[in-house]
Amino acid sequence: MRTAIVVGAGIGGVTAAVALQSCGWEVMVLERAPALGEVGAGISIWPGAVTVLNELGVKGIDKSGALSGPAGLRKARGSWVVAATDLGVELPVMIHRAQLHELITAEFGPAVTVRTGYKVATVSQDDDGVLVNGSLRADLLVAADGLRSVVRGALHPQYAGPQYSGYTAYRGIADIPATGGGETWGPAQRFGIAQLIDGRTYWYATANQPAGQGGDLATVIRRYGNWHDPIPELLANTRTTLQNDIYDLPLPLVPFAIGRIALLGDAAHAMTPNLGRGACTAIEDAGALARHLSGTPDPVAALAQYDAERRPIATKLVKRSRQIGRVGQLDNPAAIWLRDLLLWAGGGVTRGAAALRRKR
Ligand SMILES: Cc1cc2nc3c(=O)[nH]c(=O)nc-3n(C[C@H](O)[C@H](O)[C@H](O)COP(=O)(O)OP(=O)(O)OC[C@H]3O[C@@H](n4cnc5c(N)ncnc54)[C@H](O)[C@@H]3O)c2cc1C
Repeated sequence: MRTAIVVGAGIGGVTAAVALQSCGWEVMVLERAPALGEVGAGISIWPGAVTVLNELGVKGIDKSGALSGPAGLRKARGSWVVAATDLGVELPVMIHRAQLHELITAEFGPAVTVRTGYKVATVSQDDDGVLVNGSLRADLLVAADGLRSVVRGALHPQYAGPQYSGYTAYRGIADIPATGGGETWGPAQRFGIAQLIDGRTYWYATANQPAGQGGDLATVIRRYGNWHDPIPELLANTRTTLQNDIYDLPLPLVPFAIGRIALLGDAAHAMTPNLGRGACTAIEDAGALARHLSGTPDPVAALAQYDAERRPIATKLVKRSRQIGRVGQLDNPAAIWLRDLLLWAGGGVTRGAAALRRKR
């Protein structure tokens, strides 16, 4: 049986393990954390990634997202800039990260072994295979070791690595349901609301600040506690918050494969979360990896095809996500006025087009 090592057991790594297992590989997952699992709050899984998960046999993730009540883009006092409910937009499945991770790892069969508390420090390769930390051998290595990937650093020592976006993100789960959802844009800060499939409400918020400044639930309440309903109530029903400074990787992205080593997920293409697609792209990477490995007995050729397919897609997403972040985090009042006007006018055009589509 062909053997693969997957470095990192985040959503990208565990999906890669299931994908490799599905095409006949024996997989060892190496994770530096002492236990398997995900922290974090909610996550949006868009239809392309849902399809991959369904194809891999991951259960419990419905094809269509659900939303009740009004949704779209609002201003801090609650007036609508763009309402999305009747525009026929695709909806993601909103799920807690820990639940998603559990649903994926539930598909691990006997071909997948996991070593937690194992930190990868070195990787090398020759014509016959890969070598990790000078002792573990396999035919192939998938590096899903995240934003600050050690493997990417080893393969591409000249690459600049993560760059700070200028804003931080807070995330939390409110133990109450909310109707509707979407984002509210204020000056240099945004607040998002999404209904989780388990009935609770996921919220996130962004704010411009220097990297490393930190912040907690009290900071969030101070900043957004007087925004429109149901934001104050959601915050009052939240027990804790996560805070992460937002980074992405500089363009051009490095090749996603060299020889028998592939980069996947944030290790390859960490993007700002403005499109809610980083993990989805990692899941789709895993699906593509399995497809190319199934198509040829030559893993080096398969990885080259994987890079050719995935890098252009990820590059566009990194770029678009960064642009949305820049517009969403504007702090100049004149620029914000113009932005909101353009969005409002754009919403009118889209509404008109949707109405025409419905008439036909
Ligand atoms: C605020 C925020 C909101 C987001 N919202 C969404 C969303 O709604 N939808 C979406 O699709 N994406 C979203 N994302 C992006 C998403 O979180 C990431 O793209 C995704 O989690 C990346 O998964 P990964 O497995 O590639 O990397 P990671 O989740 O970073 O996993 C890497 C794993 O590798 C391990 N590791 C690292 N180094 C080593 C080593 N040397 N040896 C062994 N193990 C190692 C780590 O411990 C970790 O478990 C969001 C991101 C942020 C910050």
